[in-house]
Amino acid sequence: MRSDDSCIFCKIVQSKVPASIVLQNKATVAFLDINPIATGHLLVIPVEHCSTITDIAPEAMARLAGELPRLSQVVLEASGAVALNLICNSGKEAGQEVPHLHFHLIPRYTDDQRILRTNRMGSDDESRERMCQKMVDVLVREGSD
Ligand code: AMP
Ligand code: ZN
Repeated sequence: MRSDDSCIFCKIVQSKVPASIVLQNKATVAFLDINPIATGHLLVIPVEHCSTITDIAPEAMARLAGELPRLSQVVLEASGAVALNLICNSGKEAGQEVPHLHFHLIPRYTDDQRILRTNRMGSDDESRERMCQKMVDVLVREGSD
């Protein structure tokens, strides 16, 4: 099992650093964020160290993803929130500070203004179609079905 001695989340997985752990099984750990955006802000991580969303094995991701519906339900019920954001900052430029892949489950309340809607750039049919084709080409090159 891949692990990184300098990684704070690997240390949490190995109980070398304390954390408020809500769920821990062979593939996945969920614990409360130490500096939450809202009370009940939960982090969900793979047990195996991987840095970003492109670094995780599909099987490990499938197991983690399989926990998200019930963990989301747990967050909603325990926090009393009415909605939540599921966020993954993948890569430094996307805001990732801890280089062990993780998913934020952030409780949301009516008009709470916790996370502002990000700027959108609009698009036209032609540029969307070009980008779509590029992505399909990459998928085909990677041999995906
Ligand atoms: P990100 O910016 O997506 O990498 O988010 C990293 C998150 O990890 C932040 O929300 C931090 O508050 C949280 N965090 C960092 N260290 C710990 C820790 N020891 N225990 C719990 N959460 C942590
Ligand atoms: Zn790690």
